[in-house]
Amino acid sequence: MKLRKVTAASAAVLSLALAATACGSGKKDDSDGGKAGSTGGGKITIGIKIDQPGIGLQTPDGKYTGFDVDVATYIAKELGYKESDIVFKETKSADRETAISRGDVKFIAASYSINDERLQKVDFAGPYLLAHQDVLVRADDDSIKKPEDLNNKKLCSVTGSTSAKNVKEKLAPKAQLQEYGGYSQCLTGLQSKVIDALTTDDSILAGYAAQDAFKGKFKLAGFKLSNENYGIGLKKGDAELKKKINAALEKMVKDGSWDKAVTANFGPANYKNEQAPKIGDIK
Ligand code: GLU
Repeated sequence: MKLRKVTAASAAVLSLALAATACGSGKKDDSDGGKAGSTGGGKITIGIKIDQPGIGLQTPDGKYTGFDVDVATYIAKELGYKESDIVFKETKSADRETAISRGDVKFIAASYSINDERLQKVDFAGPYLLAHQDVLVRADDDSIKKPEDLNNKKLCSVTGSTSAKNVKEKLAPKAQLQEYGGYSQCLTGLQSKVIDALTTDDSILAGYAAQDAFKGKFKLAGFKLSNENYGIGLKKGDAELKKKINAALEKMVKDGSWDKAVTANFGPANYKNEQAPKIGDIK
C-alpha cells in the first residue's frame, strides 16, 4: 500500500481500518455465525463499516460508533445478546455477500443497500434508512454542477458498491472511474487532487465532509442520484432471523431509539435524513 501521499488525518482513518481488520481476523470468537434462526447465548459477530463517520467508525480507542452500529446493537439486544457479547467485524462493500454466505457474520449493518442483484445471494431485513447517492468535490471546484459533468472527470468509488455500478451503467459512463476498497482511500485522493470527485451515499459523504480534518475542504453536490434503501443483510433463507430483525427495527422506531440514533449520529454532520422507512417499503 502506498502511504506517501496520505495526509496525517486520512492516514489515521486508514491505519485504524487496517488495525481493526487485523484484529477482527485474529480474534477467537464463539459466535454462532450465520446459523439459521439461532439467537441468544455466546457471542454474536456483526458486519459493519469502520471508516465511515456517522455510519460505522472505529475510533482511536477501539470503540465503534455510528448509526449502523447503534442499529446493530439494538437488534443484537433484541435477539437476546448483551452488548458485551457483540463482536464487530469490518465488512468492506465488496465482501458483504461472501461474509454472510460463509457464516463469518450473523448479520450485516454496513450502509448495505437492498437491490435485486444482492437478493440473489442474501436476504435483507428492513429497510431501516433511505439515503441517496451524491457526489463530494473539493470546496473550490465549481466544474461539477450536474451529474453529466462527471463524464471525463476522475471519479472515485468503492468496489462492490451500488455507487460505482450506477456511475458505470447510468450516471456518467465516460467518467474515469477509480474503484478502491474503502471510501477513506477515495478521500485521500480527493484531497491530494489525484481524483476530482467521490461518489457514494449522501449519508456517508456528509460524515466525511464534517470531520474536523476536512472541515471547509469538501462540499456535497446535492444530487439525489439514486435511492439507497439500507437493509440488514443476512443469510439467504433464514426467514426466522429476518422476522426477528424486522420486529427489532419496528420496535426501534416505535420506542424513539431510531430518532435518538439519527440525532446522535447525523446531527454533527447536519445530515438531513429521510423519515424512518416502513419495513418492506423499498422506494
Ligand atoms: N449503499 C451503497 C451500497 O450498498 C454504497 C455504500 C457502500 O458501499 O456501503 O453499495
